[in-house]
Amino acid sequence: MRQYQLKETKEITKIICNRCGKETKVVSGIPKREMLHVEHTWGGYFSGKDGESCSFDLCEECFDEITKGGFLIPTECKDE
Ligand SMILES: [Zn+2]
Repeated sequence: MRQYQLKETKEITKIICNRCGKETKVVSGIPKREMLHVEHTWGGYFSGKDGESCSFDLCEECFDEITKGGFLIPTECKDE
């Protein structure tokens, strides 16, 4: 005899760039194009967003435009 338990799973099917809306398919957990994912929970006493959780995804082109055009101090990048 075999007993089964129904399990509900969530699987990512695509990632959408929050800035430009470009979609990237995800097949078997692997995105077709690398995307930046940022997740942060504001938990400090000096934040106006205390306890608020924020997340977004960016494609590489939007990452380049934001970091090269919108940062006073350049992003620190190293070759791994
Ligand atoms: Zn984008």
